[in-house]
Amino acid sequence: MSDVWVLVDHDRGAVSKVTQQLLTLARSLAAGTGGSAIAVFVGPGWTGAEALVARFGPAAVLVASSDELAGYQTGPTVEILARLIAERQPWGVLFASTAGGKEVAARVGARLGLGVLADASAVSLDAGQGNRPLVEHAAFGGAQIVRKTLRSAPYLLCVKPNAVTAVEAPGGQPPVEPVDAQLSGAARRVSIVETVSTAAGGRPAVDQAAIIVSGGRGLKEPANFSLVESLADELGAGVGASRAAVDAGWYPHSAQVGQTGKTVSPQLYVAVGISGAIQHRAGMQTAKTIVAINKDADAPIFALADFGIVGDLFTVLPALTAEIHRRKAT
Ligand SMILES: Cc1cc2nc3c(=O)[nH]c(=O)nc-3n(C[C@H](O)[C@H](O)[C@H](O)COP(=O)(O)OP(=O)(O)OC[C@H]3O[C@@H](n4cnc5c(N)ncnc54)[C@H](O)[C@@H]3O)c2cc1C
Repeated sequence: MSDVWVLVDHDRGAVSKVTQQLLTLARSLAAGTGGSAIAVFVGPGWTGAEALVARFGPAAVLVASSDELAGYQTGPTVEILARLIAERQPWGVLFASTAGGKEVAARVGARLGLGVLADASAVSLDAGQGNRPLVEHAAFGGAQIVRKTLRSAPYLLCVKPNAVTAVEAPGGQPPVEPVDAQLSGAARRVSIVETVSTAAGGRPAVDQAAIIVSGGRGLKEPANFSLVESLADELGAGVGASRAAVDAGWYPHSAQVGQTGKTVSPQLYVAVGISGAIQHRAGMQTAKTIVAINKDADAPIFALADFGIVGDLFTVLPALTAEIHRRKAT
């Protein structure tokens, strides 16, 4: 089969933005092979997800939905997806390159003996290789960007959020095929006993956000992260942090960007009081546009930045936030 599948990334039917991006990518990859984009939904909440998935143009949707699936981690998804892939042999399967998506892809790959590639920051068709995907991703802690053609059949590819711009393709309601959601005892081995929600302040999570404003040691103390948050809120952005800021206890580790934090590919990344150490760059250098605010004109972050402001962040940030607010109001 020459179809390209997308594993829908969702939380009880609330579909993430990266799924919209993956469906867009699947349409273009499938066009190169004469196949179709197919969405695969596993978990509870299909009725809440249906309309949004349809807007991004899958030719069909395979649905394994039951409330029982809410009680487990990735085991059921791995089992159901591996079964479907083995039976139907798609051309490839796209996953969100998030912790959950990468875990499912790795476990499915290990079960079926398939190649898995994670953290793709760009994907195109390799005409010289029968229109297989040509994938860019960072290697050696971000020191190199490498290009690879995926030859595994099917291939399993994890694509970073915001690597692709989502484009709607409304074509009516695609046919929905219910698939077997029966689980083995092994798939139920790890169950969820408690879910704790962390307050995100209404901001997008750093690994999903299209815009990120990140703060570093230049902020001097934790209270000054409010300057970063104010700018982020004007831009509808997520808030990130350097490891120095996280290690100092100024911001939670879930916001850390870099080699030992999140790797992100937003449309816009604003680095505030961050020097641009190689380990930080490893997590954000594939951002489409990078803006740096730093008082040291020789800071390494400026070598990477598309736009740089050499200045004191305590002057620049309030002025920038006020100006954006003013322009939004007019
Ligand atoms: C194995 C390993 C893994 C690591 N993983 C990560 C990681 O995942 N993410 C990460 O970020 N780091 C990581 N690091 C740490 C990394 O090497 C740097 O130490 C860290 O990124 C520095 O953070 P920073 O830029 O906030 O601080 P600094 O390097 O101290 O930079 C602060 C910057 O703020 C500027 N500044 C100061 N005051 C002002 C002002 N008033 N206005 C404007 N600018 C100002 C300074 O000029 C300076 O450039 C890792 C290190 C190791 C060894």
